[in-house]
Amino acid sequence: MSKGKINVSVENIFPLIKKFLYSDQEIFLRELISNATDATTKLNHLSSIGKIKGDLGNLQIEVKIDKKGKKLHIIDRGIGMSKEEVQKYINDVAFSGAEEFLEKYKDSAKDSGIIGHFGLGFYSAFMVANKVEIITKSYSKDAAAHWICDGSPEYSIETADKKDRGTEIVLHIDKDSKEFLEENRIKELLLKYNKFMPIPIKFGTKEETIPLPKDSPDDAKPETKTVDNIINNPEPAWTKKPSDLKDEDYQSFYRELYPMQFEEPLFNIHLNVDYPFNLTGILYFPRIKNDINIQKDRIQLYQNQVFVTDNVEGIVPEFLTLLRGVIDSPDIPLNVSRSYLQADGAVKKISNYITRKVGDKLSSLFKKDRKSFEEKWNDIKVVIEYGMLSEDKFFDKAEGFALYPTTDKEYLTFDELKDSIKDNQTDKDDKLVILYASDVDSQHSYIEQAKSKGYKVLLLDSPIIGHLIQKLEGKKEKISFSRVDGDTLENLIKKDEATVSKLSDKEKETLKPLIESVVKEGGYTVQLESLDSKSMPFVLTQPEFMRRMKEMQQTGGGGMMGNMPEMFNLVVNTNHELVGQILNTKTKKKKEHLIKQALDLAKLSQNLLKGEALTQFIQRSVDLIK
Ligand code: ADP
Repeated sequence: MSKGKINVSVENIFPLIKKFLYSDQEIFLRELISNATDATTKLNHLSSIGKIKGDLGNLQIEVKIDKKGKKLHIIDRGIGMSKEEVQKYINDVAFSGAEEFLEKYKDSAKDSGIIGHFGLGFYSAFMVANKVEIITKSYSKDAAAHWICDGSPEYSIETADKKDRGTEIVLHIDKDSKEFLEENRIKELLLKYNKFMPIPIKFGTKEETIPLPKDSPDDAKPETKTVDNIINNPEPAWTKKPSDLKDEDYQSFYRELYPMQFEEPLFNIHLNVDYPFNLTGILYFPRIKNDINIQKDRIQLYQNQVFVTDNVEGIVPEFLTLLRGVIDSPDIPLNVSRSYLQADGAVKKISNYITRKVGDKLSSLFKKDRKSFEEKWNDIKVVIEYGMLSEDKFFDKAEGFALYPTTDKEYLTFDELKDSIKDNQTDKDDKLVILYASDVDSQHSYIEQAKSKGYKVLLLDSPIIGHLIQKLEGKKEKISFSRVDGDTLENLIKKDEATVSKLSDKEKETLKPLIESVVKEGGYTVQLESLDSKSMPFVLTQPEFMRRMKEMQQTGGGGMMGNMPEMFNLVVNTNHELVGQILNTKTKKKKEHLIKQALDLAKLSQNLLKGEALTQFIQRSVDLIK
């Protein structure tokens, strides 16, 4: 036996490893299984080039718990190591790698964004073990070796009598880390990090029923046999060629990724590049509900089939974090902080590539089968609108397929929409007015009013639509979006401009303060207008600019306006019969009665009449008709 001292400048590296990485202890298993996988892959390679002759045998990796002995074993049948190789790779290479990693990590200890603490490798074993043994036999003729290290820089190494090729790592689990002796905990880790690793991983055994032969009697009981329990799928869909996969394969892979997700995805995008960077993956479009935040961060990032993280922030553009699926790339630097990642040129290229592929896919779906694309629109619009808002390149591409549905369920592209609007639907500044609604129920009477005059009304109800129409108004020449309840049509559209008033100036001067005194509690701004006599007597409007700013701040985070109360204008139609009646009514009480009733009707058509006000309205209406 020989003893030695590991050559590291940090006097005792292990307390450091524990201290810095405590919260991520669990990655040790991923690191050790990655090493076992690498050793097996190398063996396969040597065999394929004829350096190793003969049958390689069963190459599966095994993870075994010895609860009594407080040990965890990771066993592979890979290339193994000779004594000299242990000396070189473990004592020198591995330790210097860990030291370097820790140096880097110390500086950014507060930046917890170092992705999955990749690169720590073998030493991560010391996060959970107080003693680690390596028993290994190289594929070459060299004798087996047995290395032991108890967490100080001292180690011992001796020749062992292991006969079969491969490496066994034995972790003597520390008393603080007893959880890693629990079967459920290890299973959880294997499923999290190693579910799609390329070499089969055995963890325990399971019972399997043997199918009965066809001619067996009806009362025959099927027998069971004990088989290895293989935890992983070594050939996940994303590693295959798109041409080898059918729709069902993509669907079943989705279920494998998200076993608790019952809804089927709408469609998928298979990513596959090898130049100028290497990236494979499958992204799925799920049905996106309006509440975006809870749906983010389901994309899983892998590196050579090893799970790294499900937070892909900085790797895919923000709007695509709403998608699901897998991205696998060895070219994403992982032992760096997120802020570094975002500035990295290679990562930018990857992000742009993914955005482009998503755009291409949407474009081809739209061209191939527009009807089916329209049917999906409401489930995917949030992603597309979000993308148009945040990525200019995507905005340009999306011009071809972004849809603007009308309240009559017509789905128009922006160009089609513009063409379908009459030239004279313009405002005072000669901008083309695009009318829209955000809710067909509460804005029903406004929508009907506009439609009766022959105007198209869009239905735009995404949470971020305010931001998008703001952007469209900035990008396009002379257009202006107006919500149907933003103002009267007479004020919105020039050709509808108010007609001559039936009331004289003097009558108006009496009417205004009268109404103001009755409605002052609601804080309305009273505005007398000579509208069409068929319009409502009183109309509540909410000016577009203020409302939009307020909504944008609510979805864009914070801001002063978000907290402001809603502001309504009360438009009084001086050409309506009832308004004339208010003036001619004798008593003050009756006048007030009429004003209140007309206001409540206006509120009712905005779905704003609630609680006590609603009860009073009903009472007043009963009084009126009895
Ligand atoms: P990395 O895997 O990043 O090179 P590690 O510290 O995990 O760093 O391992 C250092 C080296 O030790 C590996 O490069 C490999 O040569 C050797 N090694 C580790 N585990 C095994 C194993 N199970 N079988 C064969 N060699 C191994």
